[in-house]
Amino acid sequence: MSHLVIPVSEKKEDKFIESIKAAALKKPDMVELRTDCLHNLNYDSLEKLINCVKSLSIPMIVTCRDPKEGGMHDHSQLVRLEILCEAIRLGADYIDCEFLNYQNAGVREAIDKALEGNPFCRLILSVHNFEEPFCEPASLYENMRHCNKYAIIKMAYMARDINDCFSAFDLLREKKGDLAVICMGAAGEISRIAASKFGSFFTFAACDGDKVSAPGQLTADCMREVYRFDKISLDTPLYGIIAEPVGHSASPAVYNASFEKTGYDGLYLPLLVEGGKEGFDEFMDNVMERPGLGFRGFSVTIPHKNNAFEYVRKNGRLDEKAEPIGAINTISIADNSMISGFNTDYNGALKPLLRAAGSVDGKKAAVIGAGGVSKAVVAGLCDQGAVVTIFNRTLSKAEELARIFGCGFDDLKNLSRLPDENYSIVVNCTSVGMSPNVGESPLREEWISEDMTVFDTVYNPLETKLLTDAKRAAAKTVSGFEMFVEQALEQYQKITSLEPDRVLIEKVLREKLKI
Ligand code: NAP
Repeated sequence: MSHLVIPVSEKKEDKFIESIKAAALKKPDMVELRTDCLHNLNYDSLEKLINCVKSLSIPMIVTCRDPKEGGMHDHSQLVRLEILCEAIRLGADYIDCEFLNYQNAGVREAIDKALEGNPFCRLILSVHNFEEPFCEPASLYENMRHCNKYAIIKMAYMARDINDCFSAFDLLREKKGDLAVICMGAAGEISRIAASKFGSFFTFAACDGDKVSAPGQLTADCMREVYRFDKISLDTPLYGIIAEPVGHSASPAVYNASFEKTGYDGLYLPLLVEGGKEGFDEFMDNVMERPGLGFRGFSVTIPHKNNAFEYVRKNGRLDEKAEPIGAINTISIADNSMISGFNTDYNGALKPLLRAAGSVDGKKAAVIGAGGVSKAVVAGLCDQGAVVTIFNRTLSKAEELARIFGCGFDDLKNLSRLPDENYSIVVNCTSVGMSPNVGESPLREEWISEDMTVFDTVYNPLETKLLTDAKRAAAKTVSGFEMFVEQALEQYQKITSLEPDRVLIEKVLREKLKI
């Protein structure tokens, strides 16, 4: 299992000690003392910091980072070396020395000599690249190992996109001793969250949100509470949501909370996949070429639903319901690496609509909007025998969709005809009425009648103006949240082959969506 390290870096000694105590409350496996941050760096301060950590019984790494590799102060090479040697003498558990400096015979001799005096202290040899991945990571790793075969090797580099992380996973798979590889930046988050899965010796997490010491670092609370850091092992299967952006997604909270409640050994990751179709294809190829990573399924959302459809069409099996929709939001990966694609918006929309309206066979249905969600809604309604007309602001898009499903299309302004033309189902698939524009509705109140079922796919707010108006008109209503929950339940089952817990999933979704 990977060690969770909280780095502590303060300019003043007293604040440093306070921060060590605050970090200890988070129960890290280790703390890292970034002594290079101290303005007044001297042996006396170092001893106080080390004694403070010892009194808290937490293993410690002492680092005095070279400014060339991200150090905070321009302490001279000699001062930095003396601090590291003194830390070894004072009983540090680990010291971190840059590989670049350790190759200098004088530095190496001094450190090796100090280590001989404290056999319980281990050397971490580190390299950093804050711009991009290393050119030839495997040979760099070999060189570092060759330099000191007892050292723990630490390699940290900036991931420009998620596909840059795979060389880290390859290095970790091939490692011959203790190795930590950290991909920095938002695209490298998964290397931190899933460090235990990938076999990294340690990973860093901030004490709290304003103490992040490197880009992409999460807080220790988030690592433990959302991502169940302490429960992840080399055997844990991986899942995730592929999106850009991905930070706002409720899915990691939903899935990981469900895994926790059921005791299932799984980890669900936020997967920031950039670079459009090319970036998506590269990500999927990287995953499929490495079955040992244990990815078992993905949720897919904006902007990759169409890319996912194309990828699975070429490389796997598409659910027949997804075919006419041309987009999928769910990918499952079987033990034999067969990938399957599904669109759970189809049933997600249809199930609550049928619950409210009963049979829709032969009934007239107006679908407002001609985007991704409309496709799933129109597909479901047509399959159930409804007589569908698509109303859209951009008429050509409504026409295109109508051609695929063999239904009618019309201009948005003709929605005024709804009450006179016996429409009994109305579904809003536009973003009209979505927060913050909560005063808007695609329909006038007087166009709604009590014999209609009105379904608004917008789920934020929970009750849109359209739904309030429909309730006032005594129409039956279906909320976007009902669809959201329903599609999430089916997706959970398809990806994990586990039974979803409706009550838990609804609760976490409400908390995350703040509705
Ligand atoms: P999309 O592909 O971007 O399509 C958006 C549709 O809304 C287009 O038809 C667009 O018309 C129309 N539109 C946007 N602004 C408009 C305006 N001011 N007036 C009239 N029409 C407007 O988006 P999507 O993925 O289909 O999502 C649509 C909505 O569905 C989202 O806003 C979200 O609230 C909801 N949704 C719900 C769930 C759920 O589970 N409940 C899931 C996903 C999405 P043009 O073609 O003229 O641009």
